[in-house]
Amino acid sequence: MLDMTPKDITERSALRINPAKTCQPIGAMYASLGIHNCLPHSHGSQGCCSYHRSHLTRHYKEPVVASTSSFTEGAAVFGGGPNLRQSLKTIFQVYKPDVVAVHTTCLSETIGDDIPSIVRKAQEDGIVPNGKFVIHANTPSYVGSNVTGFSNMVKAMVDYFSSRDFGKSTDVNVIPGYVDPADMREMKRMLAELGLTATVFPDTSDVLDSPMSGSYEMFPKGGVTTEQLMKTGSASMTLALGAFASESAAMSLESKCGVPFTVMDLPIGIRSTDRFVKSLLDLTGQIKPVASMIEDRGRALDMMTDMQHYLYGKKVGLYGDPDQVIAMADFLISAGMRPVYVITGTPGKRFEDKVKTLLGNEACRCVVKSSADLFYLHQLIKSDPVDLIIGNTYGKYIARAEDIPFVRYGFPILDRVGHGFFPTFGYRGSIYLLTNIVNTLLDRIDRDSPEERFELVM
Ligand code: SF4
Repeated sequence: MLDMTPKDITERSALRINPAKTCQPIGAMYASLGIHNCLPHSHGSQGCCSYHRSHLTRHYKEPVVASTSSFTEGAAVFGGGPNLRQSLKTIFQVYKPDVVAVHTTCLSETIGDDIPSIVRKAQEDGIVPNGKFVIHANTPSYVGSNVTGFSNMVKAMVDYFSSRDFGKSTDVNVIPGYVDPADMREMKRMLAELGLTATVFPDTSDVLDSPMSGSYEMFPKGGVTTEQLMKTGSASMTLALGAFASESAAMSLESKCGVPFTVMDLPIGIRSTDRFVKSLLDLTGQIKPVASMIEDRGRALDMMTDMQHYLYGKKVGLYGDPDQVIAMADFLISAGMRPVYVITGTPGKRFEDKVKTLLGNEACRCVVKSSADLFYLHQLIKSDPVDLIIGNTYGKYIARAEDIPFVRYGFPILDRVGHGFFPTFGYRGSIYLLTNIVNTLLDRIDRDSPEERFELVM
């Protein structure tokens, strides 16, 4: 399928082929689903909203609700204000959410619709019922990526809701980053184990992994409530996990309500989780983690040590969203593997600097690139193959063309199930990731073994 990809790399400034990212509103829509009783609203044409919903549905294998301003030619010429007013009227009358989270699309951004003014007028005219909220984020897809859209919507949660009016508390805020519901669930479990009272926002656990109950719930029980979001302004501090997805909201909360913040890598892999746990312990004043955490860590370490001969020195091509890729690169290095191509489609030199710092002396033997695409990754792999590719579903074409083992990781995973239920966060997440990586490498050994070397025990 990709046989015609040339080996020789030509410098490209404008053209992207098979981008290693997707568009801003998808991230904004996903973040909005992490608010309890919230309906994400796409201010643009129906096609954008359908694409964003179906993309999320295909990854989470759950129905994803969202409404749209349904632009036609008239809105494209005269602006989408009337469409948004009509949408809000219908949404609050029919679906009755607590919050409507509006994000823009390329078209409404190009027109230049002033969302705050349209919403203010709708509030004055009684279209938004008392006690209900409309928030918004600008998410033009011709800049940034899905991660930028996520980050913008999380910042909007702070800008619209957080308040100084609740005094000061010892609670902490955790912004978990653009991660799956299982990671958010695991995060809350770890916080509870250490006895911390925390507000995790956004929180898509029990929204996009809600159990089958026999009846359809348009707004499942999960998600951070508006009251919790207001109280984020009284927290003692904010832990922002993943600089690209979470830092902007944490900065906004500091400037609005004076809540100090720390930015950390996603707690993926043992080293990163150690740093995260250490920060939590500092907050609680405890010296040691609870016994179950120490045991989980020991199990992850045990597995990594036992499987070292399969992992050591293996060359990896890694791509995806920047926060996930940075954390995974750190994990691979700690496992003795060699990430040799590390790319993201999201722009940001900061990504390159961070990965090169992690690589240390190995940086000169590795290609690290932001604003890159999968065509470029394929060219690199054609010139100098790797032992393993790690990334979202789109890499399967390269894996097939070059006959290289492939581990699905990140967003989106459209052709497998289960990823939404198993955390990559924490020590338990490390075991899950190691299992996937090692088993994929073992499958390849089995497949390639001649009959006389085909072993029962590995
Ligand atoms: S890139 Fe722009 S036009 Fe295309 S789906 Fe995304 S928001 Fe809509």
